[in-house]
Amino acid sequence: VSAVPTIQSWEREVLDFLTSHAEATDPQALKWGEGSDRVALIPDSDRDDPSIVQEEQAWRALAFDAGLAWPDGPVELGGRGFTVEHRYVYDRLEARFDVPSPKHLGIGVRMVAPSIQAWAQPAVREVLPRALQRGELIGCQLFSEPSAGSDLASLRTSARRDGDEWVIRGQKVWSSEAHWADVGLLLARSSTAGSKHEGITAFVLRLDAPGVEVRAIRQMTGGSSFNAVFLDDVRVPDGHRLGEVGQGWRVAMSALSGERGSIGGGVGLETISPRRLLDLANAVGRASDPLIRQRIADVAIRARSVETAQSMLLDAGSPDAPIGPEMSAAKLLATDVLCRAQELLAALLGPRLTANSGEWGTFAWAEWVLGVPGVRFGGGTDEIQRNIVADRVLGLPRE
Ligand SMILES: Cc1cc2nc3c(=O)[nH]c(=O)nc-3n(C[C@H](O)[C@H](O)[C@H](O)COP(=O)(O)OP(=O)(O)OC[C@H]3O[C@@H](n4cnc5c(N)ncnc54)[C@H](O)[C@@H]3O)c2cc1C
Repeated sequence: VSAVPTIQSWEREVLDFLTSHAEATDPQALKWGEGSDRVALIPDSDRDDPSIVQEEQAWRALAFDAGLAWPDGPVELGGRGFTVEHRYVYDRLEARFDVPSPKHLGIGVRMVAPSIQAWAQPAVREVLPRALQRGELIGCQLFSEPSAGSDLASLRTSARRDGDEWVIRGQKVWSSEAHWADVGLLLARSSTAGSKHEGITAFVLRLDAPGVEVRAIRQMTGGSSFNAVFLDDVRVPDGHRLGEVGQGWRVAMSALSGERGSIGGGVGLETISPRRLLDLANAVGRASDPLIRQRIADVAIRARSVETAQSMLLDAGSPDAPIGPEMSAAKLLATDVLCRAQELLAALLGPRLTANSGEWGTFAWAEWVLGVPGVRFGGGTDEIQRNIVADRVLGLPRE
């Protein structure tokens, strides 16, 4: 077992690897009017192009095999046994290089693998987290249903015990990346007795199992990252159950706090760098407007404060369980910055945001702006995050 490196020496190790395998992306080198003007907050999933997913997988495997991509993973499962902070450092530094973004693998890495690691039975725990972290397998989250989003505990997909197996029947919705996924983290109702939270059981589901049907949903950006997943008497071995029967709510809560933590880490904030916003203001003739300059500075400062808030939350937590309900506050800070940036973009672009005139770098922002609601809803809406902070962080009386 190697000693845990200091953060400084870890940064050096990571940078050595990144500089020898990839080009650093230099925001200062972005030239207005040159190259692609695409700027997306939730890049559309490339349904028809497996090569993009394969490139992402190959990069992840390279970083994993160099011992960098899963620093906080337990040594016995293939990780390095370091801390969550080491992982954040890796993610932050990797984002500065021109490498395939971890779009298709993200849910498996951040949510499915940690849940399996924490709750699975030994045979599954020994294999799947490593395969998901290395990008060999792609994971998705099968929680939401047509009548169970914010009120997730109202879910109705049923799990009926049949000997050593469970028979799953129902429908999931908004399942991001399920069309690429090998395994899904599934919540199903195993009992209708007692409170609605008590009758839920969690499973790992193979998406190639007979009875699973994945159907695309098109979103307002024009892309299609989501799916509806129909489960028609799908058989899941009891060995693929996560946690105890009826304890699925605990599995769900630990998975969701991980998701909020990663969103709180500032999804998409790198796309609204001050340089980029100033270039845009310049192109539309508003760069010397003091109010616009003030708003660009405001967005930049708040984006920076999200990073700081996240580091403070990590420092305040224990090395083993640093991500708790406080991460809801980090997610709210991040989505607040996105909303302010969205309003600034609308003020700068006006009608150019709604009609494509062919002008470089203007209508392209529509995809970014239309992605903001998605980030606000995904992983729990702003209202739900505020309820969590009120209830579990501040200890205010319940609704
Ligand atoms: C980009 C994105 C990716 C997603 N990926 C996945 C995925 O991979 N897997 C998955 O299972 N799901 C996924 N979802 C679904 C997501 O979890 C739900 O959209 C979310 O939980 C909200 O549920 P809902 O859409 O049913 O809205 P509803 O629950 O119907 O909420 C509607 C409105 O009512 C408000 N509201 C509801 N309850 C309360 C309350 N108690 N107090 C105050 N306000 C309330 C909400 O804030 C919201 O404004 C994704 C969603 C998005 C946008």
